[in-house]
Amino acid sequence: MAVLHLIEDDPAIRSAMIRALSDRGHVVTSSPDAMSGLQSVIDRMPDLIILDLGLPDLDGVELLRMLRAVTDTPVIIATARDDDVQVVRALDAGADDYVVKPFSAEALDARVRAVLRRSRAEEEPGPIQVGGLIVDPRSRLASLDGRSLDLAPREFDLLAYLAARPGQVVSKRDLLADVWRLPYGGTDKTVDVHLSWLRRKMGEAATEPRYLITVRGVGVKLIEPED
Ligand code: CA
Repeated sequence: MAVLHLIEDDPAIRSAMIRALSDRGHVVTSSPDAMSGLQSVIDRMPDLIILDLGLPDLDGVELLRMLRAVTDTPVIIATARDDDVQVVRALDAGADDYVVKPFSAEALDARVRAVLRRSRAEEEPGPIQVGGLIVDPRSRLASLDGRSLDLAPREFDLLAYLAARPGQVVSKRDLLADVWRLPYGGTDKTVDVHLSWLRRKMGEAATEPRYLITVRGVGVKLIEPED
């Protein structure tokens, strides 16, 4: 499932696209103009943006440049048939793909899935191994000494983040910002609770840790145990 943000001023096209993409399992939010679109993207950080180039308040390519200044989120542009020059400008400005109006729901969904697949493959590293621990961000599977770990999504994210930085002490503040995406919110308690769940599932105790080492007053690190 992905969260898509649609920036499109034509209400009929907008509702048709929202319906088509929602029917195909995506969560779709939308904005009717460039400036509210920019604000929504900053607020919501969607997985992908679908951008109409003909917007009432700002040229779509200009908006694309502004988006690229704040985020790497993939962008698919939607454009009218006679817009070849615009398409080239948009691709040069950092668009990942485009669809030409009128397009079918199937064609749009296929582009969306292809672009998401590409961006996730770039983003997610392959399996990480630390001692007997294997964490695979792409399949979201983790195992310890050959036994698979049954982790909640946030526990997996936390483990993958730490496993990608073996031996490095990470502060709880950084974990809240990067794993929970709460740069200004959350408390150490949030991290502590998830760490203790994770430890339990990995069969270790805070008093006798193997992989997950708390460094008092600093943060936590994941290490390869010596035994
Ligand atoms: Ca338009």
